[in-house]
Amino acid sequence: MDAEQLRKYGHKMVDFIADYYKSIEQFPVLSQVQPGYLKDHLPNAAPDQPEEFQDVLDDITKKIIPGVTHWQSPNFFGYFSASGSIAGFLGEMLCSGLNTIGFNWITFPASTELEITVLDWLAKLLNLPEKFLSSGHGGGIIQGTASEALVIVLLAARDKILGRIGRNSMDKLVVYSSDQVHSFLKKSCQIVGIHSRNFRVLQTDASSSYGIDPRNLDQAIHDDMEAGLIPFFLCATVGTTSSAAVDPLVEIGQIAEEYGMWFHVDAAYAGNACICPEYRHYLDGVEYADSFGMNPYKWLLTNFNGSCLWVKDQRDLVNSLGTNPEYLANKISRENKFVDFKDMEIPLGRRFRSLKLWMVFRLYGAENLKEHIRNHIKLARQFEELVRSDNRFEIVCPTLFSLVCFRLLPRNEDDGGYELNSELLDAVNSTGKLFFTHTIISGKYIFRFSIGATLTEERHIRESWKVIQNQATIISRKFTL
Ligand code: PLP
Repeated sequence: MDAEQLRKYGHKMVDFIADYYKSIEQFPVLSQVQPGYLKDHLPNAAPDQPEEFQDVLDDITKKIIPGVTHWQSPNFFGYFSASGSIAGFLGEMLCSGLNTIGFNWITFPASTELEITVLDWLAKLLNLPEKFLSSGHGGGIIQGTASEALVIVLLAARDKILGRIGRNSMDKLVVYSSDQVHSFLKKSCQIVGIHSRNFRVLQTDASSSYGIDPRNLDQAIHDDMEAGLIPFFLCATVGTTSSAAVDPLVEIGQIAEEYGMWFHVDAAYAGNACICPEYRHYLDGVEYADSFGMNPYKWLLTNFNGSCLWVKDQRDLVNSLGTNPEYLANKISRENKFVDFKDMEIPLGRRFRSLKLWMVFRLYGAENLKEHIRNHIKLARQFEELVRSDNRFEIVCPTLFSLVCFRLLPRNEDDGGYELNSELLDAVNSTGKLFFTHTIISGKYIFRFSIGATLTEERHIRESWKVIQNQATIISRKFTL
């Protein structure tokens, strides 16, 4: 590693990225390449000899960029966004520059200690209960994604209860969530060995704004207990993926407490909004939670990846995931002087992810982060108004945060508007001018217009709406023929 070479190429790469951001609006938001496109553009074996850096950059421009779907485009409204910022990017850069693997305290003391501090900062910003702060047995840890975080809390919850009632009760353990929960719960159950027949998906509908009805939860638990099963894990969502619905944490948290279940709150997306005092009430009831997770990479200007997980007792994670091979042992860990984050996650190696979050906090400050969230929510309300002003469309779910759920009204509901709306979505996305996605709720095909890209301004919302309207006119004509 030659420092001067790094400086030379590093500057070129930063220029390349800066130019990319300058011209980002010129690219089709959704990549327009066909599957397998890259194979014909690249040799079928790695080069034997070094090539010129400029040639690699040129190939990135010609061959890689066409295959990029531009998540950082201001016209990207799909899924939930990958929030990015200069501070987040620079933090990632330094993380790569230091290239450390801080799995325990001695391998990178600053990484462990900064992670503890930054997660305490964020917990305070979210006004999380004291039990999630590092001062007691609780605390935060940064996992790669919310999915990894869920696997480990489900594992810890499983081992905790089996430790009490015996390992041969494994087949009796039951997990509860709403039908709006992210598919990560099903996957986690498969990984952790919870039988699919013991995964209770509680139906929701418009009458409960797509949140869990506590009476249904209570009933399901009763029925399971009567059948000799053991309710042990409840996963609630604040800001579901389909429609950003919110489960009633107070009511269902009390039920979880009554039955001694582990209560996990997944706020991967909407948790970010809860740094603003006016949205914090969506987390009321988090005091009943055993664990709570949110993804700053979705909305808090922190480049992908990194999912923040707080647990009220970190020993539960260590009991399930702790290992102490002699080749990793050292004086500090033997004396239990500090947490070794390797004992609270699936991988051993870990990146210095707290750095970018710390830089985001320091370079923007909490007030600007709140304004960033508020601005997106304001844009979502404006977009909602535009949709409401065109009577060919309907808003399907309340816009609580920055996700607007709407659809073009079909002439009949035979297929829940699937054909009409899916055709419209494809038509709009293939213009390359914007990109958004869909879901199905209560049998209806619904558009998800999710505002969260850092560069999005009011003009992008207005222009995108015009494109949607124009395409709707063309598609509707076809459907009325
Ligand atoms: N939970 C919610 C509410 C989500 O919307 C998502 C992803 O969009 C996830 C969990 C999974 O997140 P990750 O990709 O970090 O595993």
